[in-house]
Amino acid sequence: MISYRDNQLYLEDIAVEEIVKGRQTPFYLYSLSQIKENIEKVHWAFEGLDYHISFAAKANNNLYLLEELKNLGVGIDIVSSGEFEACKRVGFQPSHVIVNGNGKTKSFLRNLVDYQPRAVNIDSLEELERLEELVNDCEESIVVALRINPDVDPITHPYISTGLKKNKFGMAMETAEIIIHKYFNHPFIKIEGLHLHIGSQLLYISPYEDAYNKVKEFINGLKNHQLKFINIGGGWGIDYTKDGAEFPLQEYKERVIPILKEFNMEIILELGRFIIGNAGVLVGSIEYIKETPHKTFIVSDASMADLIRPSLYNGYHHIYPQYNTGEEGIFDIVGPVCETGDRFAEDRRLNRPEKGELIVIGDVGAYGHVMSSNYNFSLRPAEYLLKNNRIEVVRPREDFQKATAYYNR
Ligand SMILES: *Cc1c(COP(=O)(O)O)cnc(C)c1O
Repeated sequence: MISYRDNQLYLEDIAVEEIVKGRQTPFYLYSLSQIKENIEKVHWAFEGLDYHISFAAKANNNLYLLEELKNLGVGIDIVSSGEFEACKRVGFQPSHVIVNGNGKTKSFLRNLVDYQPRAVNIDSLEELERLEELVNDCEESIVVALRINPDVDPITHPYISTGLKKNKFGMAMETAEIIIHKYFNHPFIKIEGLHLHIGSQLLYISPYEDAYNKVKEFINGLKNHQLKFINIGGGWGIDYTKDGAEFPLQEYKERVIPILKEFNMEIILELGRFIIGNAGVLVGSIEYIKETPHKTFIVSDASMADLIRPSLYNGYHHIYPQYNTGEEGIFDIVGPVCETGDRFAEDRRLNRPEKGELIVIGDVGAYGHVMSSNYNFSLRPAEYLLKNNRIEVVRPREDFQKATAYYNR
């Protein structure tokens, strides 16, 4: 979605200079055609299998975007009461809703029993016991999958690895086996599947191979307890660094799909970043170019309150100045928040911009706006959608009056 034409930065077919006219920076901009292209890639890989794609709403919870995804036939993976409200608001069919999370409250579970989603992924025996009490009480059934922790190293940042035995998610296979034997004929708890999600921003295939092979062995060992589906999670990485380190989909198709075929079950995917990560940018303005004896700082109006990935995960994002004609230099790109960690990039080689120019941060469609905050009383930025060469507001910039409405003096 990002290119330079005549040395000027374009987002799809519109110069970024045109895009900002009448719009206050910083703001997020998403590309619907990029989202569609990403989904097509998933379809390409899974062609011929019985599969369903769900979108991990935690990656981006904009209701208009969720609606676009729904219209593209994608389901939703939710992890909280808030995301549950969002999913009902947008009108996903219950059969397209998957529920995750390791801390589901009683009232959330109670609401899920009424709602009847495709599956509730059970994180622990303790959670299953809580659910059992509820369904025994109201005598209603619920379809569940057990979240397995396969203990594989996803080779990613430790904060986004989830499938190691030291991580808080899921249950050991031994525990799952005990649960399956104990609950298989339960009148209300319907164990129909297994779930695993081993981490995020994975760029290698082997952790998936290892995990799915382990699960296959596990299922073979279950013998007469027939399951209906396997939820293989998400985690496919994207090329943040622009050095060609893309998710190796061809290799996935060659090495992982055959393993999944052998399951002979419905496959559920939960992808967040792969679907929307590269379909969003953050557009900011440069307030200062600050020279010190040691560094040159580009001070933008966007900050860690708008995009926290660089501060939180040391996440790399490619940064695009408005023009690619300035002399190359080395810069720190920072925001105005009172934290040293409010920095999008350190010692980054860029074409030198001028004060007042625009700066665009790439690949922020996932875990961008959803993680924004009011820190330093920043107001959460607006979100726009580029659709058929037109720009629609999909969420206005947060309003100070509304954000402070609780204070009525
Ligand atoms: C976060 C998460 C996902 C999506 O992860 P991505 O890396 O964005 O694809 C899927 N499933 C579960 C359970 C998750 O927690």
